[in-house]
Order: sequence, then structure tokens, then C-alpha cells
Amino acid sequence: MKDTTMLDTIQSLLGVPACAIPLSICRQSRGYLLDQAGIPSTGTAILFVIPYLITSDVDHPYRNLSLYAVPRDYHGYIKELETTVLPSLQKMYPEHSFKLFSDHSPIYEVDAAARAGLGIIGTNGLLITPNYGSFVFIGEMITDADYTAVTGHGTPDFPADPPVCEQCGACVGACPMGCCDRDRGNCLSALTQKKGVLTPEEETSILCGGLAWGCDICQLSCPHNIRVIEKGQDTTIPYFVEDRKLFLNSQQLSAMTNEAFALRAYAWRGRAVISRNLALLEDQAREESCINNNNVTERRSRP
Ligand code: SF4
Ligand code: SF4
Repeated sequence: MKDTTMLDTIQSLLGVPACAIPLSICRQSRGYLLDQAGIPSTGTAILFVIPYLITSDVDHPYRNLSLYAVPRDYHGYIKELETTVLPSLQKMYPEHSFKLFSDHSPIYEVDAAARAGLGIIGTNGLLITPNYGSFVFIGEMITDADYTAVTGHGTPDFPADPPVCEQCGACVGACPMGCCDRDRGNCLSALTQKKGVLTPEEETSILCGGLAWGCDICQLSCPHNIRVIEKGQDTTIPYFVEDRKLFLNSQQLSAMTNEAFALRAYAWRGRAVISRNLALLEDQAREESCINNNNVTERRSRP
């Protein structure tokens, strides 16, 4: 009978696909985080994906938040794992140390996840996984255990560069800001998160996008994601299934307690930014600037 490896254990505790890659060949973004965690470069990164989508949300007529912002903020889920999975792992392998990262990570997560075998990188820079497309967050369990101790076998040849998509161009063609395959400084998703006063052109872009937070256009034009949606490949993680908010208006935002607000993805820029975007979308006088955008009109008509 096959021995259970550390990787098997981690996959089973997380309940999601995971792949390992030696830290020594990961591209580092914030190497100091490894030093702070006391994890040497001989250790291993175990990358995992966290699916968040409920596919029926995609075509919900009143949704005015990006699909990733419909469930609670995934950083809260990572915190949950820190109090559940991490202590169990530490108890099972007391001779090793473990640290969970996500987003604020010592390594470039998309690059490492694709090279480790979790998926391919799309032209829009997102990781595309076989089962959940790009509707995933990425997390990594980093340990001082070496690759062999994690997987039970020697280190294979990892690709120097990550595998990429077939570059069909659908996302590039659909991007309203013309930035999908290049510097995404102009990205509509980033624009909805920008603090301060917007220019009239920026306001029109948000208005025409129709979302008070984020942009899903490149993801929804990708054939990989279209297949995921057609198959109804929903997340089964309770954290992402429960307490989803598809729609928000100014009144609801004002009524939200600080505790409830802090659980949402749009909280990280403070109330002022999402409040400004909502006011923009609720401004009936601006409707003509995007009169052909049925989504915007429908979302504004929400009771
Ligand atoms: S999120 Fe929207 S604006 Fe940003 S690259 Fe994708 S399609 Fe373009
Ligand atoms: S739409 Fe085409 S080019 Fe864009 S990420 Fe998907 S497969 Fe790649």
C-alpha cells in the first residue's frame, strides 16, 4: 500500500488540488518573508487553488460586483486555514515548520502555481486551472521540508517558464481598456479600486463597465472559463458558498456595520472608494453616457 506523503496530507486537509515545487527554483517577490518565517531556500512551496465561483452568479441580472467580490474576502478563508489546517499539520510533522501565504507572498504565485502543475497562465496574466478556470485564488503552504520529504520522490525537471494558454486573443479583443495583454495599469478593475477623485473619462469607464467593484470581462470571454460555466463547476467550499452578496447599493453600504464591511473584498480601499463608485452607478443623469449598455441599465433598475 502506498505511503501517505506530506503532500497527500496537505491536499486532504485543504480539500483542493495542490502541487509542490522547490523554493530554490521559485521566483521570489518578497524573499524577506521567508527569512522572517525562518524557512530556508532548501524548503518547498505547496501551491493550492481556492475555487470561489458559483456559476449561476455569472448571469445574474442585478449583479454589480465582480465575481470574486461576491463571496466574503478570501483573506478571511486563509485566516481560517491558519487556525484549522496549520495546527493539524504542525502536530503531524513536529520536526518541520510551516507557514501559509496568499497574495502577500514571498514568491510569484501565478508563476509558481503554473510551473508546479496547477494550470496554465492566460494572456490576461491569470492562472487557468483545468476544473475551475481562472475563478480561483492561489494560496501556498511553505515548509522547510525538502521536495523529497514532501512528495516522497526525487525532484523532476520543472519548466523554467510556466506553461501558457493558446493565446486565442478573445480576452484581448474584449478588454474595454485595451490593456489585457500588456501593462495593466489602465485596468478597469484597478480603476474601481483607485482612491480619490476620478477624471470624467475614468468615471465613464466605470459607468460603462457596470460594476461598482472589479471587472470580469477578460475572464468571461475566455473559452476555458466558458467551459467551466457551462459545466456548472461550482466551488463547494462553504466559506465561498455562504454569505454571498451579488448586489450593493449606497443605502445597503451605509447600513453595513464595520464588522460586516470588513469581511468584503471591497473593504481594503475603505468605504469612500466603493461608495463613490456606487454613487456613480446610481446617478441616473449619467445613464446616457452608456445608453447601449443593457447591463448597466438593468443593474440600476434593481429595487
Ligand atoms: S479586468 Fe477588465 S480592464 Fe482589466 S484586463 Fe481584464 S478585461 Fe481588461
Ligand atoms: S481568452 Fe484566449 S488568450 Fe485570453 S486567456 Fe483565455 S485562452 Fe488565453
